[in-house]
Parts: sequence; C-alpha cells; structure tokens
Amino acid sequence: MRLRLEVGAATDIGRVRDHNEDSYLVDHHVGLIAVADGMGGHRGGEVASAAALEALRIAFVAGAPIDEAVSVANDAVHEQSVADPNLRGMGTTLTAGSFDDEGHLVLGHVGDSRAYLARDAELERVTTDHSLVEELIQAGELTPEEAERDPRRSMITRALGLEPGVAVDVIEVDLRDGDRLLLCSDGLTTMVGEDAIAALLADEPDAATAADRLVDAANAAGGVDNITVVVIDVVSDDAPAKPETTSDDRGAENPDGLPADPAHDPGAAEEPRKRRWFGLRR
Ligand code: MG
Repeated sequence: MRLRLEVGAATDIGRVRDHNEDSYLVDHHVGLIAVADGMGGHRGGEVASAAALEALRIAFVAGAPIDEAVSVANDAVHEQSVADPNLRGMGTTLTAGSFDDEGHLVLGHVGDSRAYLARDAELERVTTDHSLVEELIQAGELTPEEAERDPRRSMITRALGLEPGVAVDVIEVDLRDGDRLLLCSDGLTTMVGEDAIAALLADEPDAATAADRLVDAANAAGGVDNITVVVIDVVSDDAPAKPETTSDDRGAENPDGLPADPAHDPGAAEEPRKRRWFGLRR
C-alpha cells in the first residue's frame, strides 16, 4: 500500500520571548520534515535554526541519508558561527524525518526537540532528549515527573553547530495507515504534559488544526518559550485528499519558519504555509 502524508505545522513566538528562534521545514517534494530550536546571543538562535534546516535540505536533496544530512547541517552552522563574531557559540537542536511512500521513516535527531508517534490511541516518544534531566533520569536520580518541573530541564547536552562533527541519533519507524507523528520543540513539551498532548491529538482529526491547538495550549499554559509543532498524518494513498483550506496569519509572521526555496519548490508561493498535501515521490 502506498502512503502519503497530510501535514499541519505551526510556529509561534510564545508569550515571553521577543523573537522566535525556532524553525521548521516541510518539503513535500523529497519527503523531508524537520524542527529546529536555535540558541545563541544576538540573532544567533534564529540564524542557527534556519541555517541548519537549509543545509539539511540541500544535503538531503543531493542524496545524503538523513544522518549525513544532519552532520552537514552541523558543520554549516559551526562554520558560520566561527566566521562571524556576532554568531559565535550559536547552536540548534534538530529533529528531522525522511519519509518514503511506503511509510518508512528515518529520523535524525540531536538535542531536545522531540518526535512522538500516536498509534492505536497510544502516544509514544520516539526520540530521547539530549538533556541534563534525561541523563539524571537514566541515572535514576530524577523521576520523569520530577524532570518535568526541574528548573534545569532546558539544559541540553548535545546540539548542532557547537563543534565540527556531532553524534546523530538515527531512529527508524515503519509507519502504517492511521499513524500520526508529532515533531515539536521544547516550547510545547515544557508547557503541556504528554497526557494532554495525547488527548488533544486524539480529539482533533485535522492535522493543521491539531498543530494550532497544541500551540494554543502551550500559550495558555504560559508560553515561556517559542513553540513549534508539526503534525503528520499517514494515510493510504487510496483515501481521498481533503480540500485545501486557507492559512491564517501565524505562518506569515515567521517568514523563516518555512524555508521553501521557490527555485526548488515552484508551488510553494501559492500554497498555504501551514498545510501541505503529500504524494511522496522519491
Ligand atoms: Mg525551545
């Protein structure tokens, strides 16, 4: 059975920060979706996350497997940070998934953005955070419940761009018709518990609306960080596509959020920013 993806994405500055350092990428031509959460002084964070996604996309389009494309993105961010004193020390998380039309997903992952798989009414975290509190959980020094409230929960132990070369986690998942994936930055998961995320994903059938509602939930809980959410529904290619809807203003506020290259992606300008229909062809 051939599978395709129905994708809804949203990014938001939140209620506290003065700019959005998160970026996301949805490239339906090559079947590549990613979330990046940048960090660094001046404009470093937003430069790092956008540069990582652009380098990732170019490398992937050129044929690199996902882990290699993430490594290329690491080196691109690192080289830019070394070259520009204003960007020194910038870095970013990166959680990137490549999809083929038989439902084989390969994730490359660095940092504390996350991928979740909702299947058969269960929500499973697919990635492992590269964070201090995750290490303390593994060492038996913190419970997951304590970690959710720990003030050190945003301290990450691995990021893209800090050094030449980075260790990339690779996770493979065979997707099925009816699966729903969530890629998100920690601005969602530090604000909204996994039970609430699971309940919302189960309640809202439309991927784009689910993404908006998750962002709204994070903002309602305080919105202390930038929030980025990509919801990906895996559906049989035999099922009829839902009609397009128009986008709201949120995507337009973040021109870096969807770094579509018009030369590469001629349909990008006419399509709503927040929703793409996939018929994946590799
Ligand atoms: Mg964040």
